Amino acid sequence: MTTLPMQHTAPLTEQQGWRAGLLWFPDPQHPQARHESDALVVTAREADGVVRIQAIGPHRELAPQWPELPVTHWPGLCMAPGFVDLHIHYPQTDVIGSPADGLLPWLEHYTFPHEKQLADPARAQEVAGFFLDELMRQGVTTALCFATAHPASVDAFMAQAQQRHLRMLSGKVLQDRHSPDGLRDTDTAWSLRQTEDLIRRWHGVDRLGYAITPRFAPTSTREQLHGAGEIAQQYPEVWVQSHVAENVDEIRWVHELFPEARSYLDVYDRAGLLRQRSVYAHCIHLDDADRRRMAEVGAAAAICPTSNLFLGSGFFDYPAADSAGLRCGLASDVGGGTSFSPFHTMHAAYTVARQNVGRPGIGLAPEHLWWQHTAGAAAALDLNGQVGNLLPGGEADFVVLQPRATPLLARRTAQTETLAEWLFAMVVLGDDRLIAHTVIQGQIAASARMSDNGA
Ligand SMILES: [Zn+2]
Repeated sequence: MTTLPMQHTAPLTEQQGWRAGLLWFPDPQHPQARHESDALVVTAREADGVVRIQAIGPHRELAPQWPELPVTHWPGLCMAPGFVDLHIHYPQTDVIGSPADGLLPWLEHYTFPHEKQLADPARAQEVAGFFLDELMRQGVTTALCFATAHPASVDAFMAQAQQRHLRMLSGKVLQDRHSPDGLRDTDTAWSLRQTEDLIRRWHGVDRLGYAITPRFAPTSTREQLHGAGEIAQQYPEVWVQSHVAENVDEIRWVHELFPEARSYLDVYDRAGLLRQRSVYAHCIHLDDADRRRMAEVGAAAAICPTSNLFLGSGFFDYPAADSAGLRCGLASDVGGGTSFSPFHTMHAAYTVARQNVGRPGIGLAPEHLWWQHTAGAAAALDLNGQVGNLLPGGEADFVVLQPRATPLLARRTAQTETLAEWLFAMVVLGDDRLIAHTVIQGQIAASARMSDNGA
């Protein structure tokens, strides 16, 4: 096991110290959390312009080594990794909480009309700005995010994320059939050219990354999927994001449209869209061959429990994913998802895992839930060591928890005896009020209004 203090060596400017409790994952590949009640985290800007963690450790041990360090002290609060949301749609910010009979009617009645509005660059900038501020307020510091079919929606999102110094991933949605006017790519070759142009414009700029984004198999022709697959092979460092096996009506439709494919997932595999750095949302109705194939190529599943419960899509099969060695992490899937809050998502994931009644491995430990939304989600994105944890060498994005944010949280967390109990109380009772501060690149980017009960 890794022991504290831990240090990273690099040329430094803007050194800063942060003192509070500390929650982190010593081995980012494993969901075992550690807690230190009075810790110091040292951050500094390195030669490449990125602010990274230089050292973490118990305050009493580390502080004497950094005598001149300016320190922000939060007594009673706890620093924890920034949350990573593996699947979310910024254009659906204003769709959250819209009632529908299921996925397909929900798309038609609410989602598509809202997404059309993002053809207007000013509207896209406004929605992207609100969305990113809301993510930070909720403690989410990195997300793999859908834009819309309009390239301007990607430009707006990237520009707003860049202004906020965020590590964000997004891409233009590809959809050249079964989509309404105003969202449909009317020229397939042109939609692929737009994708390549956007990769060149945004991928690797500051902390931004591009994701090739076919909406889902039914809304793309074979030509578009295969073209996207060629781009995915040409740019292996770029991400791929889409949806798979969410809903039984959708799966039936995919079988009609692609009778040659063995399964829904196989449509993407045949197109060259299944590889490391590809993340598929939902993955509910997969079979074992699909799961093994995803694990074999290093693709990841974004588990979206609030969305799956809201749209009645089904329950993610945790035991089957575990036994296939499938990489996965948690996601809100706003606007199908019902909350931006990582606490609501973790709570829903626990509920979903509980539905695998009578099978082994059904109880998800609180630290496992937390890991799936931080270091585990970062690993699924291949951003292990960069985000989703608080380890030396990692980027300085983190949250500061206020475990006494509400009277009930204060009462309940004061009575917990183990780390697991403490984390679980926050998973079940927590929301945005638990996030006292969100720190991005060594700057406090969002802060909650402290309640009367606060520190
Ligand atoms: Zn989605």
